[in-house]
Amino acid sequence: MKIALIAHDHKKDDIVLLAREFTPFLSACQLMATGTTGRRLHDEAGLTVECLLSGPFGGDLQIGARLAVGDVDVVVFLRDPMTAQPHEPDINALVRACDVHNVPCATNLAGARILLRGLILQGCVHP
Ligand code: PGA
Repeated sequence: MKIALIAHDHKKDDIVLLAREFTPFLSACQLMATGTTGRRLHDEAGLTVECLLSGPFGGDLQIGARLAVGDVDVVVFLRDPMTAQPHEPDINALVRACDVHNVPCATNLAGARILLRGLILQGCVHP
């Protein structure tokens, strides 16, 4: 199971919280993340994460490109709806790619918890 994780700055505490809640499951998955998110997940939740570029420097696009060729199974993208982002077109492109390729994408903490619980219930525990 290949999972991409992204969190905007005001949502980074939330994604660390999520990662701590789901550490056993996430540890069994192949994780990738945008740069700063990935470093926090590694440093604060102890996960092994492939860190791509930071979001504003193309990280969202890197994830979108992988997703488009089938290399991402699930996206957790904790967006900040209250703050304008310089890379808004990249964000929209990634969410659009999820819809084009029918890849599940949770964009808030509640949705992410349900998505990860669903994967666990389905037995998606093998990397
Ligand atoms: P970051 O990028 O994890 O490098 O902060 C996330 C984003 O802003 O899309």
